[in-house]
Amino acid sequence: MAEKRDYYEVLGVERNANADEIKKAYRKAAIKYHPDKNPGDKEAEEKFKEAAEAYDVLSNPDKRARYDQFGHAGMGGAAGGGFSGGFGGFSMEDIFSQFGDIFGGRFGGFGSSSSRGSRVNRGTDIRVKVKLTLAEVANGTTKKLKITKTIACDKCGGTGAKDSSSYSTCSTCNGAGYVTRVENSFFGRIQTQGVCPTCNGKGKTITAKCDKCSGEGVVRGDEVVEIRIPAGVAEGMAVTVSGKGNAPRNGGVNGDLLVMVEEEHNAELVRDGNDLIHNLNLPVTTCILGGEVEVPTIEGRAKIKIAPGTHAGKVLRLRGKGIPDVNGYGRGDILIVVDITIPDSLTKEERSLVEQLSAQPHFKRAESVEKQNIFERMKNFFR
Ligand SMILES: [Zn+2]
Ligand SMILES: [Zn+2]
Repeated sequence: MAEKRDYYEVLGVERNANADEIKKAYRKAAIKYHPDKNPGDKEAEEKFKEAAEAYDVLSNPDKRARYDQFGHAGMGGAAGGGFSGGFGGFSMEDIFSQFGDIFGGRFGGFGSSSSRGSRVNRGTDIRVKVKLTLAEVANGTTKKLKITKTIACDKCGGTGAKDSSSYSTCSTCNGAGYVTRVENSFFGRIQTQGVCPTCNGKGKTITAKCDKCSGEGVVRGDEVVEIRIPAGVAEGMAVTVSGKGNAPRNGGVNGDLLVMVEEEHNAELVRDGNDLIHNLNLPVTTCILGGEVEVPTIEGRAKIKIAPGTHAGKVLRLRGKGIPDVNGYGRGDILIVVDITIPDSLTKEERSLVEQLSAQPHFKRAESVEKQNIFERMKNFFR
């Protein structure tokens, strides 16, 4: 790579040039080396970029001061002393977006002046929400939704014309569909091409309008759309049904239908990723004695066994009973978290039974001696 030229030399200004002089010099260089004026000329493109880089530095007081003191080495870019994080990061688009400042906003950007012809007339997207039950989320579902939207007029086939003879060649573009503008700008004369605003690129205009759509090419109507929602979707996800959005005016491609997923609240099974969590409240006696209890699943109730001596906070896992992964990576679980229900009040008889129970060896506080031993052992361990 050739050695970097001095920025002042690039713009052809004195080292004490003021902001105005620098701006003027850059305009001159940008006009001279502009790609539209030098199509396919690599050297001109390099010069164009070089000038943009020089201007970026010299137009910024901080960068300029640093450059004056340290030269290219002071510009910080590790990769060859570039700017804005290396020269590679400064695209033609960036350069063109600078032009708004320099040329007074007449150039929207590279994209807008170079989108020749290929622009497709596309309708807007429609967003709808769909609320799904847990079972629908888990199994996937098909929904039929009535969507109110613009539909291509069936009488004129979306053209807006009365019939095939209701056309004449567009007088703005003479049938070409695009117009060439010659801009007399700071660049000198620059040709830009754009879609013809009169005929929208069709090259012809309508002389007699379709009476059904008044020449719009679209009518307002309902369409029932069948939407396939895959298993495993989650709140906030969108399912895109392409081509089911609004039809554009004057023919073209339909927009998309974006179906936003909402999950119906389920009080018993709370979703956590692809797992489902259920808080299971058990009577203290069941936790002590064990037993069989019902728990909710996606498909309905299921019976599970509770082992004798089950503690509060124990998690029982129903493997593979959760939500299938939307990308097909397996399936989540149902996690049953055990909690113990203590009665708020007791009958006389219950109270007497519990009192009897509390006098039994396994219910005495002395039972915690073993735990105390564990604590002692741990203390020794850490000493
Ligand atoms: Zn029509
Ligand atoms: Zn035209």
